[in-house]
Amino acid sequence: MLRVAVVGSGPSGVYTAQALVQQSAVPDVRVDVLDRLPCPYGLVRYGVAPDHEKIKSLQQNLRTVLEDERIGFLGNVEVGARGLSPARLLELYHAVVYCVGAARDRRLGVPGEDLAGSFSATDFVSWYSAHPDAAGNGFGLGGRSAVVIGVGNVAVDVARILARGPEELRATDVPRDALAVLEASRVREVHVVGRRGPGQAKFTTKELRELGTLPGARVRVDAADLALDPSFADPTGLSPANRRNLEVVRGWAAAPPAPAAVRTVTLRFFLRPVELLGEDGRVVAVRFERTEPDGTGGVRGTGRYEEIAAQLVLRAVGYQGVPLSGLPFDEARGTVPHAAGRVLRGGVPSPGEYVAGWIKRGPTGVIGTNRPCAKETVTSLLADADALAGRTVAPDPLSAPRDLGHDPVAWPGWLSIESAEAALGRSLGRGRVKIADWAGLRRAARPDAA
Ligand code: NAP
Repeated sequence: MLRVAVVGSGPSGVYTAQALVQQSAVPDVRVDVLDRLPCPYGLVRYGVAPDHEKIKSLQQNLRTVLEDERIGFLGNVEVGARGLSPARLLELYHAVVYCVGAARDRRLGVPGEDLAGSFSATDFVSWYSAHPDAAGNGFGLGGRSAVVIGVGNVAVDVARILARGPEELRATDVPRDALAVLEASRVREVHVVGRRGPGQAKFTTKELRELGTLPGARVRVDAADLALDPSFADPTGLSPANRRNLEVVRGWAAAPPAPAAVRTVTLRFFLRPVELLGEDGRVVAVRFERTEPDGTGGVRGTGRYEEIAAQLVLRAVGYQGVPLSGLPFDEARGTVPHAAGRVLRGGVPSPGEYVAGWIKRGPTGVIGTNRPCAKETVTSLLADADALAGRTVAPDPLSAPRDLGHDPVAWPGWLSIESAEAALGRSLGRGRVKIADWAGLRRAARPDAA
């Protein structure tokens, strides 16, 4: 039997587990999927926006995989400096696949970034997604104007959540505290700002179009920004997706003024942030430099500046991988060095160690991108199977799960959390409502211990 640990139960981890058991080259493979959190599904639970029901329903597919009898789930198991070391995992398993994602936000590197009222969009997403590490975060939504920096899908997600009305949000699984703050939000203007043009924006067209469908919000595009983009006159070289994005923003810019709405989402382009301006330690505006295309897909500064007032700033400029103690790390790329998924130590494949997902290829692509990525890694692992099976490992770690940490939460514990969240939702007259704090999750995982 080949015993494999997969570290991380987000899409890349679950697709890796699935690829390991759905193959015939090595008949008897057992997989333990470990997660730092008591709950599985990674960014599908803690990153996909709460109003994206259809994408969230992917959890059902991931669940079917984790319920396979050859796969075990163990949550609340930390790997790294504060938990199991990679060396210890190699004593317990023939092979370990790290699917730990990219947990940190990228920094802007401009003055004022840490003023009160300026947050990374990833922290904002974690908070309204009930990530237990974000439970104590307070987001003041008492100001009228918000600036979102970046024009990727995370920027669109947070802008949409800010632009939705209370009724729309109540229908989601947003946790109670976050819902109360969002319901009382006074934000009426959301500015989403890109440093390059709409032809280079990273958002996908479906997500972009959705901004124009929000019941209580209208979208504005500044025609003067679009005039700077040569892609409109000559879209050669743009991907079909970028061309579609151009069409959507051009349509909005040309549309007659939309009737007044409660909230306005304004898309701005060719503005790069140079400073967050504060008063009494709180952000009051963002200062941007006007940019212009440099002819190679990038931009250069023009020496002209513009300020946009904002009491809330969300920096949505991408995720970044975090080094995991005991594993090699490429600081420049924010990934673990690898060859077709085999972890490289000193440039040489390290027997039994693999990576898949964002920690392997960087924080790009949609959920489905993780499927071929996981498959490539599993192909490498299976090619090494004979040598891996010859390694001596400890007896089945799941027979003594404490070997994996202090208080692991196995699949029945997760099912108890799901039931508790459904019951919480019923008691509040809503659908399922997520439990947002560590203590609550741990209690819910062990209802008999209470
Ligand atoms: P992203 O797609 O990489 O977008 C980052 C944005 O930040 C870009 O517009 C980038 O501009 C800008 N940026 C980076 N550094 C900047 C700086 N110093 N100043 C100003 N702007 C800066 O990252 P993301 O939005 O975090 O998304 C991560 C991944 O998750 C993507 O693959 C995304 O598609 C995926 N995702 C998908 C969904 C969905 O499918 N609904 C939802 C959320 C996330 P430049 O292009 O000029 O660098």
